[in-house]
Amino acid sequence: MDNIIIADQETHFFNDVCTYFDHAAQFTKHDAGLLDQIKSCNSVYRFRFPIRKGNGFEVIDAWRVEHSHHQSPTKGGIRYSEMVNEDEVMALAALMTYKCAIVNVPFGGAKGGIKINPKNYTVQELENITRRYTVELIKKNFIGPSIDVPAPDYGSGEREMSWIADTYATMNPGQGDALGCVTGKPIALHGIAGRREATGRGVAIAVRECVNVGEDMQKIGLTAGLNGKKVIVQGLGNVGYYSAKFLTEFGATIVGLCEFEGAIYNEDGLDFDAVFQHRKATGSILGYAGATKEFTTSGEGLEQPCDILVPAALENQITIENVGRLQAKIIAEGANGPTTPEAEAVFYANGGIIIPDMYANAGGVTVSYFEWLKNLSHVSFGRMNRRFEENSNLNLVNMVEGITGVALSPLQRSTIIKGASELELVNSGLEDTMIRSYHEIRETYKNNPGIDTLRTAAFVGAINKIAVSYQNLGIWP
Ligand code: GLU
Repeated sequence: MDNIIIADQETHFFNDVCTYFDHAAQFTKHDAGLLDQIKSCNSVYRFRFPIRKGNGFEVIDAWRVEHSHHQSPTKGGIRYSEMVNEDEVMALAALMTYKCAIVNVPFGGAKGGIKINPKNYTVQELENITRRYTVELIKKNFIGPSIDVPAPDYGSGEREMSWIADTYATMNPGQGDALGCVTGKPIALHGIAGRREATGRGVAIAVRECVNVGEDMQKIGLTAGLNGKKVIVQGLGNVGYYSAKFLTEFGATIVGLCEFEGAIYNEDGLDFDAVFQHRKATGSILGYAGATKEFTTSGEGLEQPCDILVPAALENQITIENVGRLQAKIIAEGANGPTTPEAEAVFYANGGIIIPDMYANAGGVTVSYFEWLKNLSHVSFGRMNRRFEENSNLNLVNMVEGITGVALSPLQRSTIIKGASELELVNSGLEDTMIRSYHEIRETYKNNPGIDTLRTAAFVGAINKIAVSYQNLGIWP
């Protein structure tokens, strides 16, 4: 496929996703027309609107792409970035389609983009932009709990989601499910516990699952288990921060951190929380006292000694140019599209493996799905059964103690009796999803000798599931 030329710049991200797709499609048996339907972006909505800025006006470029309607609603975040363009939004929307299929979340894929650097706008201006963006989506039927449900992405968060929810609810009076029009909302506005951490937690679970398979680790020269594994994380935003946090909790050591301004390293470990605070106070990770090495580019940080590299910033970070210098054996893609297809081939040829974005960072949309379910059912998880469960457990413990004559300690009693909170249910649903999906992908990879990477295996699984949806819709035989 030729690279797409948009707004006089050559772009290749959507093309890269299609390259991965075409490669994987060889390992499926579907009709060429069906494969083309799955691969294409169904709807691309590009719009511009003015906002008042200072004493004048500014025209904002924005997009919403719905890649696939094989399931409804479509789902995906809204990126606020100066770099955003149509090709990127299309690629990210396509990845959402495959991502949802991989983790069995019943949505089609979508993505939005607003071409601004949020740092250059006041809160008031950001609110105006977000509300106007939402109104533009409403006008064209590109948002709604059963139509298309945005979420946070690079440059946006809970605050923006609450503006979207409020605008949509205001414009749709009497619609009972209105708050299900967007996920990643603050808890006070019917968000869900655990959504903020979900993507990073999912990345850490994905890495843990991968590293726990001794047979696979032996092949790439690593021991099994996360304990003591050295990790470099690129990006200290939401995904990078929580990936580092949970990887540390699971026993790994964060030895390197990379950001726009440069990178820091310490082979004995960095306290990522202290680095985060240092960056908050000084505006940079550089100058952190606990680092033994400092680099003025993020790229140099990626090349330092480690077992696992977690690119959790933006696309196109690992390319044919730098892949040969990486020392990691595992790349876990917290970001979407950080590795180019050519770089991936070299990384595997050098004896490494890549946990692909469309699986590795699917924790966010998985918990978004739980939030959407909560919004449609108008009840938080655990509300109906928590006390009932606790009473049943209490009766059971009392009975067992009575029969055996063994008295449990207060801690043992409370651990057994306690009913699950919303956060515990969300985390357990997320963990179950990430574990099952990893092994599904790994089985496809292991059992098909022609399938060369975990990404190809993930695509094959996704394509097959989406094909079944089209067949169920009666569109293809
Ligand atoms: N923006 C996130 C992603 O790329 C989350 C999407 C969602 O929750 O809908 O997966």
